Amino acid sequence: MNRWIGSTGDGVYSVDEWTRYGDELRRPLMVANGLGKAKTVLVVGAGLSGLCVAYRLAKKRPDVQIELLEKSDRCGGTIETWNKGEWLCDVAVNATRAHPSFWRLVDDLGLGDQFEPSNPAASTRWIHTGGRNRKLSPWLVLQQGPFKVLRGVRSSRQGKKSVAETMPIPTISDAMTLGIVNDVSMNVDADFLMPSMTRFGDEPPIKWSKVKRKMVQTYPMFTPNKGATASLKGGMQTLVDSLVSTLKSLANVRCSFGVNITTPEALAEERNAPLSSIVWCAPLRRTASEFTHLNVYAVGFTEADSRSVPVGYGTLIPDAHAPISGVLHESDVHASPRAPAGHRLFRLMSPAARGATDDEVKQSLHTYLCDAEPVIFEKIGERRIPSYPPGYMASLEVLKPEFTRAGWCYSGVSITHLAAEAERIADAF
Ligand SMILES: Cc1cc2nc3c(=O)[nH]c(=O)nc-3n(C[C@H](O)[C@H](O)[C@H](O)COP(=O)(O)OP(=O)(O)OC[C@H]3O[C@@H](n4cnc5c(N)ncnc54)[C@H](O)[C@@H]3O)c2cc1C
Repeated sequence: MNRWIGSTGDGVYSVDEWTRYGDELRRPLMVANGLGKAKTVLVVGAGLSGLCVAYRLAKKRPDVQIELLEKSDRCGGTIETWNKGEWLCDVAVNATRAHPSFWRLVDDLGLGDQFEPSNPAASTRWIHTGGRNRKLSPWLVLQQGPFKVLRGVRSSRQGKKSVAETMPIPTISDAMTLGIVNDVSMNVDADFLMPSMTRFGDEPPIKWSKVKRKMVQTYPMFTPNKGATASLKGGMQTLVDSLVSTLKSLANVRCSFGVNITTPEALAEERNAPLSSIVWCAPLRRTASEFTHLNVYAVGFTEADSRSVPVGYGTLIPDAHAPISGVLHESDVHASPRAPAGHRLFRLMSPAARGATDDEVKQSLHTYLCDAEPVIFEKIGERRIPSYPPGYMASLEVLKPEFTRAGWCYSGVSITHLAAEAERIADAF
């Protein structure tokens, strides 16, 4: 089913485009027709999306002025890395899953020597249900009823289904969506979260397995192992800092902070600029209730005290009565150190909707980690995440947008989507 218009204009993306972007081509690309004619492009929002879009456009067209307009007093948006002595923890995104677009971004910025694959010994994920941890594996899914899953996946191809309908195993689907978007699976759009599974958008002109084989040959720097993630020394702030310093060095880029823009229409009027010169990389016309909120904690133990905690990726906790929804084993996962020698760092996620106090979160360590007293326990931030209710992807206006839209409200939840979307916008520029 052709829902998006391919760059060839005939509604079909070429094999080369599939090789470059893979399943990102199932996602909408909302580029205004007149963007390529703009002499000045106004990029609103300096989160990772706005920074990547500004970077790709400015590099491609040194003759065009790029103005980055940010509401707050800093770049990075959701991304921030917390430090205390030798402790280092990302408040939000800490690693990237494999995608050549992200690898290209890191390579183009010259960050290859700071970008490393995750520790293969720390890939195990657990789900905490019924008072114990179970290893998350295809076997666990099969045990819960393979036919239910098969029926769910088939029905999801009609579109606009929730993740709960697509994967009708509540503990697993809730654990997964809580881990990704901080919401239970009945509230989350399956098309937006996993368009390849629901077969949203176009199909490649050749078999998907062939596309994947071709994609694997395009990774610069190193080819990631299946299922592996990768991260940056110094945390994700490294990426933001590098983008910011590169943008500062480009003569055609300007960045303003503390700007108060409410809508693209208001900005176009204020600047007497065409709407089509705006790239909106921020939430738009979303009310406070269209986000979920999350409290994030960093917790450290000595290795000796946390010996009973197996090395792994982390544990998801779908129980709505638990103070936390997940524990990530930060110092197990990353190749670069996140804790002083002889210590381990964990990150806890506590959905605000669960209403837990800091003390209740701390008490929950006895259940989900170990009984020892942590050497460090600190709330390191609060974050909000856009909600993506069932039918969200299908509701996005993709035909003839008056201004360009990007960022995690449109591209997909993770940073690989943002990196690919910025390249695709530059391709169309
Ligand atoms: C706890 C958590 C963990 C995560 N973990 C991962 C992970 O492991 N892997 C992964 O791939 N992704 C992860 N993500 C998702 C990732 O962080 C996001 O995809 C990404 O940061 C979104 O970037 P963005 O630029 O689209 O939006 P934002 O970061 O929200 O940036 C938007 C920017 O726009 C600005 N702004 C807003 N309104 C206006 C306005 N009117 N005018 C001007 N500026 C405005 C904001 O101040 C902000 O700077 C995680 C997210 C969270 C919260």
